[in-house]
Amino acid sequence: MQDTLAALRGLQEIDRHIYRVQAQLERLPQELEDRTQAMARLKEALEERQYSLRELRARIKEIEDTTTGLRQRLRKLEHESNSQKVDAAMLASYQHEIRQVKRTISQAEDDGLRLVGEAEQVSANIAELEARQTEEQTVFEEFQNNVATETAEAEKELAGLQEQRQKEAAASIPSDVLDLYTKLLDTRQGEAMAELADRICQGCFVEIPRNLAIRLARNTELVQCPNCQRILYTWG
Ligand SMILES: [Zn+2]
Repeated sequence: MQDTLAALRGLQEIDRHIYRVQAQLERLPQELEDRTQAMARLKEALEERQYSLRELRARIKEIEDTTTGLRQRLRKLEHESNSQKVDAAMLASYQHEIRQVKRTISQAEDDGLRLVGEAEQVSANIAELEARQTEEQTVFEEFQNNVATETAEAEKELAGLQEQRQKEAAASIPSDVLDLYTKLLDTRQGEAMAELADRICQGCFVEIPRNLAIRLARNTELVQCPNCQRILYTWG
């Protein structure tokens, strides 16, 4: 039984390694996907800002055109009000309209200034996002290359480990024990064995009955933890 347990522990070493490599092989494409999505979100945010900027610039242009028209109107009114033919009532009417046009121009200029300020902010934000995008694109491409390399390496490593596993498993482990071990490996996420220390299973940290500990110490049979079912072993 000592030999079988030793062989199982050897196998467990390899399987732990296999589980780690398999987890890595699952994690890598997931991480690549996450990063791809993050890049897409950044691009979307940038496009949204660029759209806002175009809108703001169009509104600023509109205001500029309006004020240009209003200034022309103002000059015309001022010219007409200075004419000799204008009587007092007409002059009052002109002056009233001039005041109104001036107010409208002033209002439009305020609006224009506010929009120019907003556009500047959006511009600065775009520049910031573009810089970030350039920077992250480099990191992303590096990561993408690394994923390809790491995946290839992990796959090669996994093939080697599986070959090694096959050899060790066939060599010195009875098939019924191997079946039990393999089943446990699956249900216990890669840890089919557990050390027993002071009658505590180190796999689930539950204390096992004294008689089981004695049976394990006799070393004549395979003993499983009654709680987590892992195959128990002791150091030595
Ligand atoms: Zn246990």
